Amino acid sequence: MDARLLDILVCPICKGPLEYNKNAQELICKPDKLAFPIRDGIPIMWADQARDLNAPTSPAPSAS
Ligand SMILES: [Zn+2]
Repeated sequence: MDARLLDILVCPICKGPLEYNKNAQELICKPDKLAFPIRDGIPIMWADQARDLNAPTSPAPSAS
């Protein structure tokens, strides 16, 4: 993912900075405990697509 893109990305909920998790291909908002997925290099900045970091480990949400 383009590091410059990360500079302009903010959390859609709190407008705070995001942390790029390269291994998981996710953008993490620590205050909100949400992880936004990156698919094909494109960050999915939708709250309803975000993974709740508070939730116990669960299977990846289905795409459908
Ligand atoms: Zn946030």
